[in-house]
Amino acid sequence: MRWFLFLLAAAAWAQVFDAVPEKPTQGTVIKVTSDKAVSARLNGRTITLFPQQEGPALGLMPVPTLEKLGKYQLDFLDQSGAVLHSTEITVEDAYYPLENLSIAPSISKLKPSPGEQATVGRFREAITAERYWKEPFAAPVPGCVTSPFGSTRLHNGKLTGDFHAGVDQRGAAGTPIHPITPGVVKIVQKWNLRGGTVAIDHGQGVETIYLHMSAFQAKEGQQVSTSDVIGYVGSTGRSTGPHVHWTMYVNGVPVNPGQWMKLEPCAAGSHPPTAAVQHATPKPKPVPTATASPAAVPPAPQE
Ligand SMILES: [Zn+2]
Repeated sequence: MRWFLFLLAAAAWAQVFDAVPEKPTQGTVIKVTSDKAVSARLNGRTITLFPQQEGPALGLMPVPTLEKLGKYQLDFLDQSGAVLHSTEITVEDAYYPLENLSIAPSISKLKPSPGEQATVGRFREAITAERYWKEPFAAPVPGCVTSPFGSTRLHNGKLTGDFHAGVDQRGAAGTPIHPITPGVVKIVQKWNLRGGTVAIDHGQGVETIYLHMSAFQAKEGQQVSTSDVIGYVGSTGRSTGPHVHWTMYVNGVPVNPGQWMKLEPCAAGSHPPTAAVQHATPKPKPVPTATASPAAVPPAPQE
């Protein structure tokens, strides 16, 4: 009996402090779980651990794409901010490629609409407690990826000082776009830079935004699931051709959705020689002229 009581007490004391993975690459997410901590901190960023229907509380710690490589300490915190436990995290190189876009001056000069940047900024910062997201996530359109997440961007050969904070997927104009997981529609706007835009809050720090749409199907405030159509592929805003650019944010930070779903890159050499994109590694293979006609293979549309 005494042993039984001891085991019972030991079980009650067992504390969960998990961080997976402990060696994330730049632009990915660490799943932080604990039955004691209410928040977690990494390199100055603090995230909330939300209670779950089953199991310990869960928080999603983003590792920014431009985070310096090396070792960091992930702290598990209690209500008062005291450190209950620490885990060593090693940020590893994701080897994101270099990518050049040929952009017409008229498109390059586009300025954001009044309020465009601020509205997206507020959306990214607004973390809500109710969880709608559930795995597995699904790509918003079936098309292959013409430009991956994380590439360092050059416009007409000049460094922009920025990286590609989303994924570009090919899609014929008018292709329906679905949310990657359930959520609540927060933004439906036609903007100068982003073009037709829908932004969705999936709860507990997960958000997505879909750009360049030709038309909308969703309304602000609407609850949507992956079977719903939120809008249609277009080329509005700063875009070189019909495609969907979409970004997944975790606690306000753009992250690589490739960690959460399978995304097929468009086959190397599937772009005609005039394609805007050049990948630094590996170098694009020369395109055989005898393959598909230019009409069947549109240039890789991007931005
Ligand atoms: Zn893009």
